[in-house]
Amino acid sequence: MMPDYGRLRTALAAAEDDRIIFDLDGIEAQYDALLSELPGIDVRFAMKACPVDEVLACLAARGAGFDAAGPQEIAQALRTGVPVERIHYGNTVKSDRQIAEAYALGVRDYATDSLADVAALAEHAPGARVFCRLATTGEGALWGLSRKFGCSPEDAVRVLTAARDAGLTPAGLSVHVGSQQLTSEAWQQALDTLAAVIEEANRRGILLDHVNLGGGLPALGALDRYGIALHPPLDKMFTVLREGMQRLREASAGPLEFLLEPGRHLVADHGAIRAHVTRLTERRQLGGERSFWLFLSCGKFNGLYEMDELRYRLEFPTHTGAPTVPAVIAGPTCDSDDAFADEGAGTPVPRDAASGDPVWILSCGAYATAYTTRGFNGFPPLPHSCVRTARPADPIGPGGER
Ligand SMILES: *Cc1c(COP(=O)(O)O)cnc(C)c1O
Repeated sequence: MMPDYGRLRTALAAAEDDRIIFDLDGIEAQYDALLSELPGIDVRFAMKACPVDEVLACLAARGAGFDAAGPQEIAQALRTGVPVERIHYGNTVKSDRQIAEAYALGVRDYATDSLADVAALAEHAPGARVFCRLATTGEGALWGLSRKFGCSPEDAVRVLTAARDAGLTPAGLSVHVGSQQLTSEAWQQALDTLAAVIEEANRRGILLDHVNLGGGLPALGALDRYGIALHPPLDKMFTVLREGMQRLREASAGPLEFLLEPGRHLVADHGAIRAHVTRLTERRQLGGERSFWLFLSCGKFNGLYEMDELRYRLEFPTHTGAPTVPAVIAGPTCDSDDAFADEGAGTPVPRDAASGDPVWILSCGAYATAYTTRGFNGFPPLPHSCVRTARPADPIGPGGER
């Protein structure tokens, strides 16, 4: 299953300078497809994956809510006009002041994973609904979110009990199986743990009404560090999720609703960068080997932050079909980490690539803008544009900018 890049290519071809382009129709279609795969699920888009106002507004208009990590993201979410009931404070790490600010903004749903956080919530967000986050191993994901968040099943029951005793509403459980999760087994495991904790909480008289299945659903167009397409088993994941949700409903003593906090999955394949070649060089380094290096106008610090685990899909529209050489791809700054990890063979690039030639970088819509520095070495953040691209029935034509 590969994303259809055709519509984005039209917009990339129309771009005259470096920028990141988001295809709002593609994002909407992705959102609709997700809802049809997982009927009844309520989406809380993880804002950090793409904190771009137009993208957020488009998701909010479609019915999505937001997973926000603090008062600043909450304020940005509210500017889309989304009802505050659809904003979830999904960060387990919060100060007293952040809790109080979120509460003053009207947020009532909070993730938690510790007794200390529950005590702070009881004081600064009285009566709030809390979701206890369960720890996961992060196995099978490119970025496991294992150590920093979540607690054991036993502690989860303690945390929920403490929340109830402190006058909060123990409302649910949450998990995150790790970002760009590539296995359905990780979901299976998480769902098994969720079922066990729901049953134990029920036995202690705690009725939970929600399960938040978190993020982790993959981008389809991503390449690994060797340049190999990842082909995540998305259909299998959806099957596991549908069956798991049914199982949890049966395990629960009361009615259960489901939230999902996708980030990457909704936006990654619908964002692309128009960059340009800074220079293609060939050098003999200290080991004696000659190698080609292709330096791009953007890199780790302005658009391609995830080059530690990914290779990005590159296209050279002015060199289609031309002879290539294998090169290491790197960004323009004076930092040696600003380069693909480059395991295995290099990335094929046109032998005649010249300074200034356009380069298209596909499937880079997730975590691109949020991970951009303010101007490391003076290289500015990429400007962005949002397009509505050629939906058959769309009144706005190909590449039409809004
Ligand atoms: C980052 C994050 C997400 C989104 O993760 P993806 O892998 O991009 O789907 C969801 N929930 C929480 C709490 C997060 O921190």
